[in-house]
Amino acid sequence: MDFDKIKQAENSCYMPTFSRYNICFTHGKGAKLYDTAGKEYTDFCAGIAVNALGHGDEELVSAIAEQAKKLIHASNLYYNAPQSELAERLTSGTIFSRVFFANSGAEANEGAIKLVRKYWKAQGENKYKVLCASDAFHGRTLTTLAATGQKKYSEPFEPLPDGFLHINYNDFPALKRALTDDVGAVMLEPIQGESGVTPASYDFLVNTYALCKERGVLLVLDEIQTGVGRTGKFFCFEHYGIQPDVVTLAKGLAGGVPIGAVLARGPVATAFAPGDHGTTFGGNPLACAAANVVVRRVGTPEFLSRIEALGQHLQNRLMMLRKYKFVEDVRGLGLMRGVQLSEKLKNAEVVGRMASAGFLLATAGRNSLRFVPPLIVSEKEIDDMAEKLTEIFANTNI
Ligand SMILES: *Cc1c(COP(=O)(O)O)cnc(C)c1O
Repeated sequence: MDFDKIKQAENSCYMPTFSRYNICFTHGKGAKLYDTAGKEYTDFCAGIAVNALGHGDEELVSAIAEQAKKLIHASNLYYNAPQSELAERLTSGTIFSRVFFANSGAEANEGAIKLVRKYWKAQGENKYKVLCASDAFHGRTLTTLAATGQKKYSEPFEPLPDGFLHINYNDFPALKRALTDDVGAVMLEPIQGESGVTPASYDFLVNTYALCKERGVLLVLDEIQTGVGRTGKFFCFEHYGIQPDVVTLAKGLAGGVPIGAVLARGPVATAFAPGDHGTTFGGNPLACAAANVVVRRVGTPEFLSRIEALGQHLQNRLMMLRKYKFVEDVRGLGLMRGVQLSEKLKNAEVVGRMASAGFLLATAGRNSLRFVPPLIVSEKEIDDMAEKLTEIFANTNI
């Protein structure tokens, strides 16, 4: 395949929204990807925490192919067997009683915000405000940009929808002060992914949960990046022993096929009435057939404890980099880890050098590196990546 031709067409015909690496992949297997020149890469980016089962997983591929042969789409006007199977999987054995399927993370969050607004409005309560954290990331639609609350993403598109307040992440006293009577929900990521892989402190999340319960405010957790096993538990909130009212999932849920989900428990789970919300594509048979494979495989205790063990191994390897003075912090849970670099060494430069050496990482905010490999990554692949990163750090003269 002619890379220059692909690049030229893309650069002249596609809206210039992305600054891309000079790479185009053709195929992959497991945690390996191959580009147009045939070069092999070990993938610690996984399409930004999406390819949960890696690339070319045989069971996932054949489930998608089989479903595509039978039926790709028929509309939510009708019942849908893969969708009903997935809805059951996500509600039986979890704390949630109902689910709605969308096509992306932002759409799942839009659905969650509409759900909590409807819940309060139906009770005649003026509690339309949602309290979020600064440095959050909830998506790119106008409403999820308002929830995200970061000027760098939203400034060109103002005015944004009204009704979002922000406090500093992990600042419980500030959250308590901001929880006025017009706030109907608190919406947080249990680990802030895009802004630097920053976990919620145990006290912050547990105190927030307790306060929400006491005040009757809904707790919405955006688990679009942290959910579906990423952190070694099916939901990240399980690490904190709390029970949110609404959770959103997307990225890893169907192993790369676009999908999003809103999960809810208690009375808010039945707040939508027919006609309140909808989607043409959301939860179609193809996406749900893929998600059924991912949820069934990732949801077993064996699979989750393997993620936990591999995540600990990755953490141990990354902690060894603390000997370099430009490595300021190592954060995260399971197979979602971040390395905070000092301003002297730019994260993008490290990601570029690692890509040249055949290892894909992602950047994250605050000049950090993000490690979100496929959940099927091997210990050896972690070791190989860590050795290459050590070599690059050892040859960095700052
Ligand atoms: C990626 C992400 C989103 C947005 O998902 P899209 O599918 O890109 O719309 C929202 N919230 C979190 C926490 C994310 O990581």
